[in-house]
Amino acid sequence: MRLNHADELLTSLGIREPSEIDLEAIAFYCGAEVKEAPLTGCEAQIDGFNDQAIITINSNSSPERKRFSIGHELGHWKYHRGQSFICRSDDIDNVNRDYSATNPEVVADIYSSDLILPNYLFAPLAKQAAHSSFDVVLKLKEDFSTSITATALKYIQHSNEPTMLVCHGQGGRIWFKHGKGVPAELFPNKELDHDGYAMDVLYKRSTQQRPNKIGADAWFNMRYADRYEIYEHSIPYIAGQILTMISWRDEEMFDVL
Ligand SMILES: [Zn+2]
Repeated sequence: MRLNHADELLTSLGIREPSEIDLEAIAFYCGAEVKEAPLTGCEAQIDGFNDQAIITINSNSSPERKRFSIGHELGHWKYHRGQSFICRSDDIDNVNRDYSATNPEVVADIYSSDLILPNYLFAPLAKQAAHSSFDVVLKLKEDFSTSITATALKYIQHSNEPTMLVCHGQGGRIWFKHGKGVPAELFPNKELDHDGYAMDVLYKRSTQQRPNKIGADAWFNMRYADRYEIYEHSIPYIAGQILTMISWRDEEMFDVL
């Protein structure tokens, strides 16, 4: 596995377990002191001068959010040194925005994900599970002390099976992300299938304890979709939304795209 900048930093510090990723100590090593304050109007900020910086994170945020914010500010320190950043809530760990390799907030988010969920530690643990499910993600979330969103997004890059994430609210689809091996031209339907399990989770009629097999036509409007089966696992998410993991146990369906 090729090491990225975050991997190189963590391995140079001898970090071999998720529990050893002490972000404040890592920040200190990089010349940045982490402080907490009850911020309003922003989630985190970094003020740098020469080789020293002060990172301030919102003391009112969850521990998982604080970790992502420190990683995000360290991303600015790594790639945008000499500039100060005041990062709003929408700037940090925001999955629902257009990807742009030149947007400094996207660059900082990618660095944070690689620092708090490093590929070299995450991938072997993710691959222990034969099948994709939120059970696996929730276990990894505990191991790495990260948010469900950040953990699930990392998971679909390393899962054994091709896996996709889709977020729905009562107004329809909000965002979706392709995991490794899922063809880019595959778009999940905007509306949930009326008879599907996900609808029950959205309207709190039932919970979905494990992935359930369902016809692919419940999720995809493509020819022959009804000939294939996929697995879906939906869980309650933020603000009345649900997050669904769609996974494939074989890739035959991809051949007809
Ligand atoms: Zn930022």
